[in-house]
Amino acid sequence: MAARFDLAARLGGARNGLLASGFDALLVTPGADLRYLTGYDALPLERLTCLILPATGEPCLVVPALEELAAQASPISGLGVRIVPWQEEEDAVALVSGLLGSRTATRATTVALDDHMWAEKVLKLRAAMPHAQQVVAGPLLQHLRMRKSTAEVQALRSAGESIDRVHARMAEWLRVGRTEREVGRDIADAIISEGHAQVDFVIVASGPNGASPHAGASDRVIEVGDTVVVDIGGTTETGYCSDETRTYCLGDPPGDVMDYYAVLLRAQLAACEHVRPGVTAASVDEAARDIIAAAGHGEAFLHRTGHGIGLETHEEPYIVAGNNTVLEPGMAFSIEPGIYLPGRHGARIEDIVVVTGDGCERLNQRPRDLAVLPA
Ligand code: ZN
Ligand code: ZN
Ligand code: ZN
Repeated sequence: MAARFDLAARLGGARNGLLASGFDALLVTPGADLRYLTGYDALPLERLTCLILPATGEPCLVVPALEELAAQASPISGLGVRIVPWQEEEDAVALVSGLLGSRTATRATTVALDDHMWAEKVLKLRAAMPHAQQVVAGPLLQHLRMRKSTAEVQALRSAGESIDRVHARMAEWLRVGRTEREVGRDIADAIISEGHAQVDFVIVASGPNGASPHAGASDRVIEVGDTVVVDIGGTTETGYCSDETRTYCLGDPPGDVMDYYAVLLRAQLAACEHVRPGVTAASVDEAARDIIAAAGHGEAFLHRTGHGIGLETHEEPYIVAGNNTVLEPGMAFSIEPGIYLPGRHGARIEDIVVVTGDGCERLNQRPRDLAVLPA
């Protein structure tokens, strides 16, 4: 069942954010912000596509003429956004500044740009509107995107179930004598067949490669006794992403792996148990890190505990020291402590969780023990 997202509420929320910040307009080019606000999953092209949301007045979408039908076919057509196509020989940036009109022509104004707008487009807009101060729209939009609605949580839950199904089939592919890359290709196929529209990443990090958190998948042949960190994710049809890590072992695990894996599992559980409304993102990181540090592996946990997830795999809130964002119901993020011993091996356990009224719900349900597969 397709989740239904209240796009009009999102656009309204962005407009409220503009008014509260004293900004005159928001400009958004293709990417997760545009999809969030309008449902339009536009192609990021050299040709300019740009949503213009003024603090007051009619929103417009400037699109290349050849993308007009695609825009009209998207949910944006039901949102009261005027679609303004431009022809190949026209100056699209001049069109945008013209639509903003008196807002930017003379007096000092502030225009918020989506964080991922290409520098080339930012600079052309600056040249066309020299009186307008440009600011990043990130804080304004993150405020909205961080707090997931019921429909968004359902979309993330369904993405979590899809990636769980891929991990559940790991023994079909992860075998001694195969290369990481061969295993990775099978996993990528399964990410699609188990319910994603797109594969975002496939990490199959065996033996010493497991000590590098973002190792990818190499031509290393998997051996008896190897631990293998498998971190995989994709984007579903709704646009919402999955991301889940489990650590496997081919045959009996080396004794030292058993020792630190037990610590890692305790740390992951402690961080999940710590999550509830009112605590800070930093305190969740601390809950995992304290346990790993107390066991003497502090140096080996070399990244933050997690990241927010939604229409992007990595978004706010980041679960990291110094982030004093106070958790609220609907915030969704990963809890993924790891222990990495260079030259030897590593392990990571990652689940996506969403903050509930009094704790959190895990969106990944696969067993979290070191998964021993037949060698
Ligand atoms: Zn990562
Ligand atoms: Zn991951
Ligand atoms: Zn992650």
